[in-house]
Amino acid sequence: MVEVSILPQVRDFMNRLNGQFINGKTVVSQQDEVITITNPATDEVIAHVATATSGDIDYAVDSAHRAFHGGWANVSPAQRGLLLNRLADLMIAHREELAQIETLTSGKLITLSRAFEVDYAVSFLRYYAGWTTRIEGKTVALSLPSANGEKYTGLTLREPLGVVAGIVPWNFSIMIAVWKFGSALACGCTAVIKPSEVTPLTMLRVAELVIEAGIPPGVLNVVNGPGQQVGHALTTHPKIAKVTFTGGMETGAIIGTAALQSGFKRVTLELGGKNAAGFLPDVSPEKTVEGIIEAGFLNSGQVCASAERYYVHRSLINNVAEQLGKRLATLTPGDPMDDESRFGPLANRSHFNKVIGYFTRARDQNLTFIHGGGAFDLPGCYIQPTAVLARSENDELMRQEVFGPVASLLAYDSVDELVTLMNDSPYGLAASLWTNNLSQALRLIPRVEAGTVWVNMHNYIDPAMPFGGTKGSGIGREFGSAFIDHFTEIKSVIMRY
Ligand code: NAD
Repeated sequence: MVEVSILPQVRDFMNRLNGQFINGKTVVSQQDEVITITNPATDEVIAHVATATSGDIDYAVDSAHRAFHGGWANVSPAQRGLLLNRLADLMIAHREELAQIETLTSGKLITLSRAFEVDYAVSFLRYYAGWTTRIEGKTVALSLPSANGEKYTGLTLREPLGVVAGIVPWNFSIMIAVWKFGSALACGCTAVIKPSEVTPLTMLRVAELVIEAGIPPGVLNVVNGPGQQVGHALTTHPKIAKVTFTGGMETGAIIGTAALQSGFKRVTLELGGKNAAGFLPDVSPEKTVEGIIEAGFLNSGQVCASAERYYVHRSLINNVAEQLGKRLATLTPGDPMDDESRFGPLANRSHFNKVIGYFTRARDQNLTFIHGGGAFDLPGCYIQPTAVLARSENDELMRQEVFGPVASLLAYDSVDELVTLMNDSPYGLAASLWTNNLSQALRLIPRVEAGTVWVNMHNYIDPAMPFGGTKGSGIGREFGSAFIDHFTEIKSVIMRY
């Protein structure tokens, strides 16, 4: 065991009453409506955060609106990139502090908090910073005839949209927020971020670093509180130009509808998945088992792109199931604040209860548990790593997103059946194909309905690769140059001379 000592600055930060971060300062307007934060590894209350009042929300949006037309509009693209890189430097300088706040709040292993919430988040931020000087319009050759010898010149400008509301889930509270505000700020927009009500802390600390980096007050604001009040008020606020949301499919439908109905706001929706991994028969059972562990058990399965449906050839499935059960038995639970832990708790009690509910119903439906299927006998939200043999593609565990450490296996007989089964879902976020036969993989990729298809790997996302869902997994793409289209508007200019 290598238990990490909690830094004094982390204790101080958790002990004070936090609330919102608006116009460069901490704001706590009311103390009667407070979010109580419980460490999911221990069930201990560790912090309190005041929720935003409607006045706070107006103040945050107004500050962002003023900064959009003032402080941020006057910062050159190159300077914007420099400031985002300075923030990245500061996040690295405060790496351990940010990682500890995140781990204590969300139960994420400290090693994962360092890697994803700081190092990966910083890679994304630097990627966005690199685009600030490359956002360009075009000159256009015009075609209509000129009656009296007059000439026309056409050009397009790419203009930032305005104030962006970024609504964020609890599974990666810094990294996903960076996807939102990094893209927004790089394009010249300003932002109001609403973290999940169960992980409201870490972005407040990042917002303080934004000011330390020299980014003007009001450019990035953070408001906290329940989605149906604070999130809804942001989504429908008249001065918000765009909503970028990551979260569940049902919430995405509500937010998308509300954003359109309140002034046709622009919307990006990154929603859930019920992602499939298809193993072709040339892959050994040993490699299949390691593939399932890679695809399904990172961050205890609380990754939107994780696989939850696994298709294995009928001739191999019993062998794979037996070896998978043994492998899952080695995933023993550990304290997330221990450097050597490899399997942590779920992020909160309500999610824990939801996952246990899936197990209960799967038992009632007589599904075969290969391993797990319950909670560990420990304080905290520890769920056993679980695998089941599904009976058909209609089982609840083959259709509903669990968002936990649960792999459901189903046998297939032919490659055509494999493709049909993989596509049999309202979701289409990500999928993986596992085979040693490259031409087989290349033929199958176009047939798989998903925004990302991995070959012999899963869960790898990179700032340079567009990421987003097809079908019910969302609208729009983050990362790659694709983000520029979603945070800017094209203005056409035509001149006669
Ligand atoms: P959620 O949809 O319950 O909540 C996400 C955010 O939306 C929270 O901040 C919440 O307060 C807010 N919200 C809820 N109702 C709202 C409303 N009516 N108006 C405005 N805001 C509202 O999701 P969650 O439980 O926090 O996260 C888990 C889900 O997120 C899973 O479905 C997962 O697949 C998805 N997810 C997707 C991606 C992706 O990139 N596609 C990444 C991570 C998580």
